[in-house]
Amino acid sequence: MTKRVYNFNPGPATLPLSILEKAQAELLNYNNTGMSVMEISHRSKEFEAIVSEAENRLKSLLQLNDDYRVLFLQGGATTQFSMIPMNYLKQGTQANYIVTGSFADKACKEAAFIGETHVAASSKDANHSYIPELTSLNLSDNPAYVHITSNNTIYGTQFKEFPEINNVPLIADMSSDLLCKPFDANKFALIYAGAQKNLGPSGVTIVIIRKDLIEASNKDLPSMLRYDIMAENNSLYNTPPSFSIYMVNLMLEWVIEQGGLIAMEKHNDEKASYIYQAIDSSSGFYKGHSQPEFRSTMNVTFTIANSELESKFIAEAAGKGLIGVKGHRSVGGMRTSIYNAMPKEGCLALAEFMAEFQKNNQ
Ligand SMILES: *Cc1c(COP(=O)(O)O)cnc(C)c1O
Repeated sequence: MTKRVYNFNPGPATLPLSILEKAQAELLNYNNTGMSVMEISHRSKEFEAIVSEAENRLKSLLQLNDDYRVLFLQGGATTQFSMIPMNYLKQGTQANYIVTGSFADKACKEAAFIGETHVAASSKDANHSYIPELTSLNLSDNPAYVHITSNNTIYGTQFKEFPEINNVPLIADMSSDLLCKPFDANKFALIYAGAQKNLGPSGVTIVIIRKDLIEASNKDLPSMLRYDIMAENNSLYNTPPSFSIYMVNLMLEWVIEQGGLIAMEKHNDEKASYIYQAIDSSSGFYKGHSQPEFRSTMNVTFTIANSELESKFIAEAAGKGLIGVKGHRSVGGMRTSIYNAMPKEGCLALAEFMAEFQKNNQ
């Protein structure tokens, strides 16, 4: 077998070896159909069972009550940036955004094509190194909804609590941290996530939506942009990304087998602590981008004080099988993405490499 590396890419990202092996074992003959999941009809009872199993697994992991549906859509999280305002941003109301990073900013800018937007809080003044105070949000007069980005993939910050907002739908882009820890999902009117970070391969976007929002959605839109049509058809209005949905279902099974969200939180806190410790004990050789209280357990961002060492760091890390550590240009330095599927051993290997690299280069 060819050697697997530790893959710190931000997305598409690493997947558990056991589910890749399971998909491989089932690839030619899924469930005695004599066909691959890729080849069976999306209208077959086998595929309908996959979709409903995935919906039920996600609802049980998040302890969602029967007021919610889970949809499997296409177009990535980015399509949700516009689908949400198309459905809910009506004349005379304003879409409120908490702008904590590039994706939040993009979501807000897409909404501005549809209607009126309002920035309720922003962390732009410090290059998105923190999460703004949530008790003093400056909401607009007639908010259509409040949108947050729970984990800022590029900057490496994460909401540690969520805003308490009464009578206004709270919407979250959780593309890079859904299922990383327990939280009260029943607070949210709509949660969406592109799968390719924490939930599976690219190609499918998960939308968790409260039934009153399905009803309140705009019926004056093309079918593919209507939440009510997607819900009525159990995400099978047209041909869905069936193999991606199958992989997400395997990933959900894996999370449940690991012990669910409580186990995920413990696993992720421990993994992140190895890398943050390597930063904090480096006497300034490494510098974390996020203010400590907002540090993400999913994307760890840091620079090297002597920035000339960055390309050497990336090359030597790759030589040790630590792949995808280069940061996004808006922060520079490194970003190591350590989603649920990254094993503890990968984070330990990275922390060890960081200490060794420091010793050899300071
Ligand atoms: C990656 C990412 C996106 C974009 O997702 P696509 O599926 O590529 O459209 C949006 N929001 C966040 C928080 C992300 O991390």
